[in-house]
Amino acid sequence: MTLEQEINKRRTFGIISHPDAGKTTLTEKLLLFGGAIQKAGTVKRNKAEKTATSDFMEIEKQRGISVATSVMGFEYNGAKINILDTPGHKDFAEDTYRTLTAVDSVILVIDCVKGVEEQTRKLMQVCRMRNTPVIVFINKMDREGKDPFDLLEEVEKELHISTRPLSWPIGMGDRFKGVYQLNNKVLNLYSANKKEISDDNILINDLSDPQLDQLIGEVPANKLREESELVEGVFEPFDVNLYRSGYLAPVFFGSAINNFGVKELLETFIQIAPFPQARESDVRMIEPIEKKFTGFIFKIHANLDPNHRDRIAFCRVTSGKFERNTFYLHTRLNKKLKFASPTSFMADSKSLVEEAYPGDVIGLYDAGNFKIGDTLTEGEKLQVLGIPSFSPEIFRELENTDPMKTKQLEKGIMQLSDEGVAQLFIVNPGNRKVIGTVGELQFEVIQFRLLHEYGASCQFRGLNYSKASWVSAENPSDMQNFLRTQASRIGFDKEDRPVFFSSSAWDLEYTAKQYPGIVFHETSEWD
Ligand code: GDP
Repeated sequence: MTLEQEINKRRTFGIISHPDAGKTTLTEKLLLFGGAIQKAGTVKRNKAEKTATSDFMEIEKQRGISVATSVMGFEYNGAKINILDTPGHKDFAEDTYRTLTAVDSVILVIDCVKGVEEQTRKLMQVCRMRNTPVIVFINKMDREGKDPFDLLEEVEKELHISTRPLSWPIGMGDRFKGVYQLNNKVLNLYSANKKEISDDNILINDLSDPQLDQLIGEVPANKLREESELVEGVFEPFDVNLYRSGYLAPVFFGSAINNFGVKELLETFIQIAPFPQARESDVRMIEPIEKKFTGFIFKIHANLDPNHRDRIAFCRVTSGKFERNTFYLHTRLNKKLKFASPTSFMADSKSLVEEAYPGDVIGLYDAGNFKIGDTLTEGEKLQVLGIPSFSPEIFRELENTDPMKTKQLEKGIMQLSDEGVAQLFIVNPGNRKVIGTVGELQFEVIQFRLLHEYGASCQFRGLNYSKASWVSAENPSDMQNFLRTQASRIGFDKEDRPVFFSSSAWDLEYTAKQYPGIVFHETSEWD
């Protein structure tokens, strides 16, 4: 197969949702269709949301197991599908944000009873930053949920994206009869079916066909006729280019647990979802079709077993062909590295990989060379962009409680922040260390790992900040003035970029008004 064919057959995406909307269930059904797993219940491991905070070791253990399920590859109808798993637990949201930098599109699962929820909003904000194409799957139609029109309006309003239903539900809850595929005029009749994959497709070219009344009953049939007319009146015809530019989300309705509406979703996904896309670097655009290999690290997974300190760095192939046992340039360290046992991921197993293509994700065993955002090439000096840091939400100052172990503490905290467990900011004077995370859990993880892996002990002092904004200014003297007058609220990230700590949206706004020459950014990369 040529490189072009390898690229064209790949679809690399993430499934995102607020916890409990049905992400795990949907993932599992997709894998069942792909024949990648044989029975339900295999993909249950990356879940931690119901565990108490103090059980973080349990959560980390689960994360450990979930290395295998971090990427799930399978083939379906000639396409190679790579699903990048995203942790559901909100304390690991940053992991999810970073994973989203390595996908070409996403499927967003929404619970029809709950509608748009908090995590949904945050995740979509990240998608919008990169104009990631989104397909919406409205799940749990076997339950009494919100009116479909209201749901679409809610998605549009709250997630700032246009929608276009490609299927339409017939009733819901106890009265759920199935869905009508608006594009190809096929009726799928619903039957609760948790295990098998059924194929109950009936072609209804014309909704006025009396067959429809016989199949679903006169009242639901009339309602479907009315509603589909309304849909065609209200929504523009589906435009694949608007979808691919991240502006328009096609919407499907179904019930993941009952395997309903999933096949249509998968097949449409393969047809319309973008194949591996070009990536921006600090030097130039990197096109997947380039002969030479490039790839970047978007996630690092620590091994919690103290006897095996190696980590797995997840590398997304950006261009060309990756080969095992070949030297590649680690551009940040200017160091050549080769990988004897790169890993590929198929559903619930890992295996040695000889070669990989754009869109694929490979696991590289690493003894501490990588940090998130690092780039591998065949020799060209460049760095892939678009893997920004996002503002943490909880900030604490790290205090060393064992002066004899200062060096270990320094080393440990640097490595943990390379892994992306937390963000580290240095505040002067005094070289104080401020740790920022998105969840409480991370502080426990850090304290535990510093002690067990580095022999360093620490405690945290709460800080009244809720946001870090990266700052820039056209005029260097504006910046100098700002850094001087706000010194106590300025930290420097690992790349030595200044951030401003604020305690509330109001506080940030107030400061921004006082310093019109300063631009405040949500993430560490901006145009
Ligand atoms: P996740 O947290 O988003 O990964 O959600 P899960 O896939 O674990 O699903 C959360 C709960 O919703 C589980 O108890 C599922 O069995 C249930 N669930 C998932 N899909 C459906 C569905 O289509 N209908 C109903 N009634 N329940 C569902």
